[in-house]
This record gives sequence, structure tokens and C-alpha cells, in this order.
Amino acid sequence: MKFSHSSDVGLVRNSNEDSYCAQSVGSGVHLMAVADGMGGYAAGEVASFLAIQSVVDFVSEALSQGGHPGDYRFLLEQAFQRANEAIRQASRQSSGRDGMGTTLTVALLVADRVYLGHAGDSRAYLIRDGAARTLTSDHSLVGEMVRNGEMTEAEAMSHPQRNILTNALGTVQTWIELIEEEWQAGDALLLCTDGLTNLMSGDEISAVVSGEKTFDDVAPALVAEALRRGGHDNVTVVAALRQQEVVA
Ligand code: CA
Repeated sequence: MKFSHSSDVGLVRNSNEDSYCAQSVGSGVHLMAVADGMGGYAAGEVASFLAIQSVVDFVSEALSQGGHPGDYRFLLEQAFQRANEAIRQASRQSSGRDGMGTTLTVALLVADRVYLGHAGDSRAYLIRDGAARTLTSDHSLVGEMVRNGEMTEAEAMSHPQRNILTNALGTVQTWIELIEEEWQAGDALLLCTDGLTNLMSGDEISAVVSGEKTFDDVAPALVAEALRRGGHDNVTVVAALRQQEVVA
């Protein structure tokens, strides 16, 4: 498994409210996640940080106890509940953090499977044979309009109300979208915040992924391209490549 990750405040914002992780969490299980926080007075940074930290802690502990023999969907559900509670509790404890929330997209990579838990408008892409497929749906006003055929994907990218979420941790009603996918040798899984997807289409993202000689360079190259296109938001990319098995 190879990883690549990068996050940048962008060219307009003063602080980076995105958080992410990419790490091993027990034997044969890798965890990747991105969170895009919202809320005034640095509350967005707190919310996204808490979400990632809470998921890493919960999943690591659960797997170390060996209590989840393959039930990774249930594990993700519990991890999201835990993260949501942590954010709500922190926002009750400080008046400046009223209404803080975050998107959260989590991937567990286990052998030939990818298990995803998702809330909000960050995204997961599976890139196979040079083509990107979006695995998650955008839990946002414009995301719903695209699904209902009222707007094109391209129109949604620049719509003035594109930031309105219909599902996020800590704030608006929280549900979790669970996805399970096959993960083949040669596949790349890419998680990112809307700082990337409001500026680049899935085809453009997969072209950059396929064009880099070294997988390490994939996330920095995508972030650099988002900055070149204006970088009006924080931008975060975490990617994993399942390498081709080498027969000795
Ligand atoms: Ca964002």
C-alpha cells in the first residue's frame, strides 16, 4: 500500500479548517479520513480535528481488542456516533463554538475491500484504469439538485449556495452513508475536501493521478493544481494505492 497526502490553507482563507489522517490501525487495516470543519472563531478547526481524532482513537481501540471480526460497517457507524457526540459536547462547553460542525469521510482498507462511512460534501473517488468514479454522494443542497436533474455537476461547482450542507456532524441532522467496494490491485482510492472538487472534475483529478510517476507526488500535485486555479478554499487530499502484487 502506498499513501500520499497534502493539505493547504489556500490563497484566500486565514486558517485551515480541514483535518485528515492516513495510518495503519491494527493488523492489515488502514484508515484514511478527511474532515472539513465549519463554524466561526476557529470552531471549524476544532470540529474537524475532533472528528478525525475521535475516529482514529475509537477504531484503533476497537481493533486492538479484536472485537470486530469483519463487521466494519458497524464499526464505522459507532465511530461516527462517537465523533458526533464529541463535537456536540465540545460545542456545548464553549459559547464561541455554537453550531460548529464538520463533514467526515472515512475509509477502512482491509485486504481487497474498501469500507466507507460518509457525511457531508467531501468526496471519495475510486480510480481504476485511469477513470475516476465518485463513491460518495454530496450531502448538500446542490448535490440534491444534481441528483434530481435540476442542475449539472458543472453548475453545482460554482453555485453561490454550494456550501449549504444537508448532513454534517455536530450541526444539521446526521446520518451516515455506508459504502462497501472491491479494491483491486492497481486501484487508487482518493478522499478530498470540496476545496479540490469545486475546482477540478473527476476526469481532471484522475488525469493528475495517472500522470504522476511517483504515487507520493499525487496529493501535492492535486493541491498545487487547486491553488493554481484560485485556491479560494482550504484544500485537502489523501490517497492510497493498492500496489500490483509482485510474484517472486
Ligand atoms: Ca471546504
